[in-house]
Amino acid sequence: MKICKDGRIYGQNNKEAGDHLGILTGCNKERIKEKARIRYLKNRDKIIEKARIYHLKNHDKIKERTRIRYLKTYVKKGHNPNSAASKGKKHWNWKGGITTLSEQIHHLPEYEQWRSDVFQRDNWTCQTCGKRGIRLEAHHIKSFKQILKDNHITKIVEAQMCEELWDVNNGVTLCKDCHELTENYGGKKLEEGR
Ligand SMILES: [Zn+2]
Repeated sequence: MKICKDGRIYGQNNKEAGDHLGILTGCNKERIKEKARIRYLKNRDKIIEKARIYHLKNHDKIKERTRIRYLKTYVKKGHNPNSAASKGKKHWNWKGGITTLSEQIHHLPEYEQWRSDVFQRDNWTCQTCGKRGIRLEAHHIKSFKQILKDNHITKIVEAQMCEELWDVNNGVTLCKDCHELTENYGGKKLEEGR
């Protein structure tokens, strides 16, 4: 891997950098990590506020999107969304009301930002096996569900304001295979994040 003077990866194709072909420097992972951390800390309030406004403005749209997604899942699983058994505590996917919130959180701009910050800090490299250029996932070291619980988060706005949830230091880049080996992956995926 070649690193450019501005800290980006030479030739790295990503949303922010495009096909980046800058001036090369020695590999300095620590410096890149620190830079990403500082940028995040500096912009955190802005990011949170932006997300809050986005959410308030698009509340109905987000709700509708979520509803459609759920309907699609119901149909796939052969459940009837309109039957009484499909609602509330009898619902096949009822998990104390946390699932919906978790799903919503995963579609927040903060979540996208957190994920991309974690990837950037880790140089788009799986931190377990060192693979790059494959599908990467951002893993919550302290589980997503635990953070929601500990911070008594029941509303999306509370999630947006929760510092612990968006702490880049609680995230680690893993490839899909390595992610599946973590203890809060798989069956608890919906609740605990990807
Ligand atoms: Zn891996």
